[in-house]
Amino acid sequence: MVSHIEPHQYTLRRSVSCCGIGLHTGRPVTMTLKPASANSGITFFRSDLPADRVVPAHMDKVVDTTLATTIGEGTAKISTTEHLLAALRASGIDNVNIDIDAHEVPIMDGSAGPFVHLLQRGGRKQQRALRRILRITSPLTVTDGEKSIRIEPYNGFKVTGHICFGDDVIREQSYSVEVTPERFSSEIARARTFGFVEQVEQLWRNGLALGGNLNNVIAIHWDGRSILNEEGLRFDDEFVRHKVLDLIGDMALLGGPVLGHVIADRSGHGLHLDLMQSIVDNPQCWEYVKFQKKGNVIRRRTIHGTRTRPKQLPLFFPPPLRGRAGASACPA
Ligand SMILES: [Zn+2]
Repeated sequence: MVSHIEPHQYTLRRSVSCCGIGLHTGRPVTMTLKPASANSGITFFRSDLPADRVVPAHMDKVVDTTLATTIGEGTAKISTTEHLLAALRASGIDNVNIDIDAHEVPIMDGSAGPFVHLLQRGGRKQQRALRRILRITSPLTVTDGEKSIRIEPYNGFKVTGHICFGDDVIREQSYSVEVTPERFSSEIARARTFGFVEQVEQLWRNGLALGGNLNNVIAIHWDGRSILNEEGLRFDDEFVRHKVLDLIGDMALLGGPVLGHVIADRSGHGLHLDLMQSIVDNPQCWEYVKFQKKGNVIRRRTIHGTRTRPKQLPLFFPPPLRGRAGASACPA
């Protein structure tokens, strides 16, 4: 049964904008989210560029996973996409056009909370077109040394994260959540990005994380026993919750809803992309659930992955990746 998954696609009811700074450049960014037509997906438009401005939010557009997930098309790049995409996916927004006047999504407070509020201001509008959902039917696992990520069949979209650091602040944390708009908003969205002070200082020396400060990053003290942010943590296990947030955002690059349970152990953006590529490469491990409307009755139909690739259902999987950047966690 997939009855708890809404069959219709959704977009925004009205356009909404926000301003902020890019985490790495420290420069101002203005972003406007606009309603989009059914089956168009999530698409970025670099409004500051004269041409080559369009970058679809799809996994085949990923050009870098170092520090954050960056997508690009031609000369246009959009970095730090994961927090915004997590808010869109978890809020059930399928189609949206995003005008952005710089190459970084604004970092806001380091979490997805401001984006959830932005989407609530925009409102959700149901569209006539029906969704297609990717349902995992057999487990898939990807490993990189001691890091691993696995997806297995599940009647919903569930994410379990586990991290293990050698300091006294994070130590070992696990978190598991059935991703719904309500639980994402209350348990995940406000979890902020984090980094060790020496890592942030190293990034600064390399001209990165120039917009990083205690208003948008949890900074772990040099001694590994405390954080520099005077207001403290928003959750005792805020660190692993943020990792779950990053994973939800990266998985949005599959292009639509997924039924499955993702279990991530010490994973990062690179391994998230590896898992998505593994799904693309193993169509025997998933199937599409496609909703169809006859009169006032909505039915669902199952289409096996092996029969549908690559052309029949273009909204989902793009062609295989040709080279990708190395794996990395989200440190700041
Ligand atoms: Zn993050």
